[in-house]
Amino acid sequence: MTSQTIRTGTTPTPDQIRRAPKVLLHDHLDGGLRPGTIVELARDSGYTRLPDTDPDKLALWFREAADSGSLERYLETFSHTVAVMQTREALRRVARECAEDLAEDGVVYAEVRYAPEQHLDGGLTLEEVVEAVNEGFRQGEEIARDNGHRIRIGALLTAMRHAARSLEIAELANRHRDRGVVGFDIAGAEAGYPPTRHLDAFEYLKRENNHFTIHAGEAFGLPSIWQALQWCGADRLGHGVRIIDDIEVHDDGGVTLGRLASYVRDKRIPLELCPSSNLQTGAASSYAEHPIGLLRRMHFRATVNTDNRLMSHTSMSREFEHLVEAFGYTLDDMQWFSVNAMKSAFIPFDERLAMINDVIKPGYAELKSEWLFQQTPATSGFPGSGD
Ligand SMILES: [Zn+2]
Repeated sequence: MTSQTIRTGTTPTPDQIRRAPKVLLHDHLDGGLRPGTIVELARDSGYTRLPDTDPDKLALWFREAADSGSLERYLETFSHTVAVMQTREALRRVARECAEDLAEDGVVYAEVRYAPEQHLDGGLTLEEVVEAVNEGFRQGEEIARDNGHRIRIGALLTAMRHAARSLEIAELANRHRDRGVVGFDIAGAEAGYPPTRHLDAFEYLKRENNHFTIHAGEAFGLPSIWQALQWCGADRLGHGVRIIDDIEVHDDGGVTLGRLASYVRDKRIPLELCPSSNLQTGAASSYAEHPIGLLRRMHFRATVNTDNRLMSHTSMSREFEHLVEAFGYTLDDMQWFSVNAMKSAFIPFDERLAMINDVIKPGYAELKSEWLFQQTPATSGFPGSGD
């Protein structure tokens, strides 16, 4: 009697996860430097305050500081990376390496964000900062292409919530539109700095028909998500993970959505979820308990992101490895997240569609077919010859 295994889904291997075309919408440029680059840039610029000058030990320090649960130590990590990103050449290099690293990891489209106002200490103007980062991204895309990888990167300009330059940065983003900058964001401590402080920036961008996302619903709960959407008009939610507070799971497995959660799901508002980062900040206690499992099941417009690759010692592939392990996700799930992210990108609709149909779907189809060509051990005779 013969038996047949019905394949209901393919659990990807780490190698397949890396090769799968991935889309990243939430990644901070100053949170993704290579440790060796930080050491070299510090040396070149005379910055002496690094906690360690050995790249491996420095990498560990960043991770431990981010893991410590102390906000001061977490913020200190960015004071070091930002300190060494104050010249044209430094910004160009960090952006170039960011593109190279993401491409090497199988990311085909990324929106990488940074706050231009934090890179003026060396005398650069806001314009010069944006130009240098754009140059770096273009160089990185080219190097990736030479190495056989295809990646496209768009920049998001971030304004800091505690500062008062958001309108200026929004105008900067608008000026560089169609020239490498695809949108705007606000970031920084949520407590005490609600997004409504920056209404003039959001209203300006809306009048300009431009796009923006807002860091909301990470440390702070539903009110910050509600404000970001209903007062500010955000196109996407940076994190948005606390939307889970408006979802009730019953003992029988039934689920009830509150008004805000319903709105987010009905309007297909993209959630830029960052599992590893959330674990470090305490927004979730384990990958298996991360709300992404429920949000995926409920068909929210959920996406997977890295946030800060250096501080969280992560990459898009690592994020997916954790999720595959926690939730048993298959290549179909990975494709679903990647298509979701591509649908939610800030580049024009026809370009998003081409990325989905000509890059993402064929990439997953190729991976899903690999099992058909796997080598099976040689047998001693014809199948069934023992009958
Ligand atoms: Zn972030």
